[in-house]
Amino acid sequence: MKKEAPLIDFCKKCGSIMLPEKKRMKCRSCGYSIKKTTKELKLVEKKQTKKPVVVLEKDSIVLPITDKECEKCSNPRSYYWMQQTRSADEPPTQFFRCTKCKHVWREYK
Ligand SMILES: [Zn+2]
Ligand SMILES: [Zn+2]
Repeated sequence: MKKEAPLIDFCKKCGSIMLPEKKRMKCRSCGYSIKKTTKELKLVEKKQTKKPVVVLEKDSIVLPITDKECEKCSNPRSYYWMQQTRSADEPPTQFFRCTKCKHVWREYK
């Protein structure tokens, strides 16, 4: 995902909009120019927060782990995923699967 930063700045002298001209930013009204600011470049993409993933033994589906407590054995870790179970206009159901006893349960949002 690349976001094009708007290449405009404001003139320090008269406050008008400055536009890029070659490698400089130039004021449209008074002609004041500065080197192109590089602050836009700092708006780098936010790195996606990495969630721990595991591979389920059987079907080798990679599922994230959450700290949802198992309703059966009270194990504090479980896999989770979303699934559209009913008609498309209804919100998807959140499923959990205990990392310990493999109990699966669902939760409606
Ligand atoms: Zn100006
Ligand atoms: Zn459990």
